[in-house]
Amino acid sequence: MASNSNDNRDTNESIWRFKGNGATSDAAAVTLRKLVFGMFKNCNLNSGKTILPSTTKSFKTCPEAEEAVAAAVRSGMANSYAPSPGIFNARRAVADYLNGDLPTKLSPEDVYITGGCNQAIEILMDSLAGNPSANILLPRPGYPHYDARAVYSGVEVRKYDLLPERDFEIDLNELEAVADENTVAMVLINPNNPCGNVYSYDHLNKVAEMARKLGIMVISDEVYDHVVFGDMPFVPMGIFASIVPVITLGSISKGWVVPGWRIGWITMNDPNGIFRSTGVVQAIEDCLDLTPQPSFILQEALPDILEKTPKEFFAKKLKAMRRNVELSCERLKDIPCLSCLKKPESCSYLWVKLDTSMLDNIKSDFDFCTKLVSEESLVLVPGVALGAKNWVRISIGTEESELEEIFDRLKSFYGRHAISKHSTKLNGYANNQRVVSVI
Ligand SMILES: *Cc1c(COP(=O)(O)O)cnc(C)c1O
Repeated sequence: MASNSNDNRDTNESIWRFKGNGATSDAAAVTLRKLVFGMFKNCNLNSGKTILPSTTKSFKTCPEAEEAVAAAVRSGMANSYAPSPGIFNARRAVADYLNGDLPTKLSPEDVYITGGCNQAIEILMDSLAGNPSANILLPRPGYPHYDARAVYSGVEVRKYDLLPERDFEIDLNELEAVADENTVAMVLINPNNPCGNVYSYDHLNKVAEMARKLGIMVISDEVYDHVVFGDMPFVPMGIFASIVPVITLGSISKGWVVPGWRIGWITMNDPNGIFRSTGVVQAIEDCLDLTPQPSFILQEALPDILEKTPKEFFAKKLKAMRRNVELSCERLKDIPCLSCLKKPESCSYLWVKLDTSMLDNIKSDFDFCTKLVSEESLVLVPGVALGAKNWVRISIGTEESELEEIFDRLKSFYGRHAISKHSTKLNGYANNQRVVSVI
């Protein structure tokens, strides 16, 4: 029925008894999506350039994985609802995939299939909530979905720092200091997004001992386990499960470059049965009953994806990443306000420190990124979105030509905003105080 433009009755809000849940906004405010899309608000893209990074130039997945999904559709075997914990073949395939490196083997029952790693995070947070005073230790910088879902589930967040001067190792003294008798878990991201480091065996061993001392579980986010291209070998945290019970989270999103496929897992590395005796297993299984199962089609395809992907697919991608890191670090020399303290050995980012004192009229990382979007149509993630002020994350998992374009744009942005050499020389006398710290 056509609306009557003279009829204003619906604008009278007071008669309605419903309203949106305000509690969601606190949690959503810290999500990456809200923060990054916030940069687009109030800014008109005045460069006329296409927005970078583009989705079309990023790495492609392999034909074997695409074929596995197509075959799952055609089989007609994946049209019903899947069981809550996941289909047996998918759980078995994930256990096999991870077991190569583990002293205590996972059985299919130790694996739960989820809608990507993000849903695994949600299920874990809900499983750990319940005690209203529970708190969880998260890394800074970190991955904001943990923060958002902890807030949403009513779990208090406490931060521990990653130390840039020590290859982004965990500050274990600080971690111990922020924990108390209500701390239930710590989250570890290894390989690390955004810092690009990989933790050594020795460091992880110390983490395990510390977690045991504190009586807390370790949640190890290993979503980037297939994107390691430096000298430090990746060590799964599950190796230390006899010291401390470990929940490992993973997915195919990053390794296979298919974040839209939404398939991941939770695995319980716990030879001593602590998760079962403390009710954590039950809580996770209950949470899985409360939420939609991930696509049966992707679950059906998962064994082939994990087992039939040729090694060359990863090798080629890692080689490209090594080249991209070298190229990016070289190009960064033209942009002195950004510095990379450690060349990344994993993931697909450059995590760089921003020196705003070299720039005119740029107050913060958020300001930098917002103006960059506006002037150059280039999207970088401001560190503040990941918990670290005046850092910036640059995505470098793309084709070489696009990477060059990204750094061309950064360079011209810097050129326009740099405090001029002339005023730098006048330092002590210039009335702009920020100039002093350039020297
Ligand atoms: C991308 C990412 C996730 C989310 O992975 P999905 O499988 O796409 O849900 C979780 N943790 C970290 C550290 C990530 O980088």
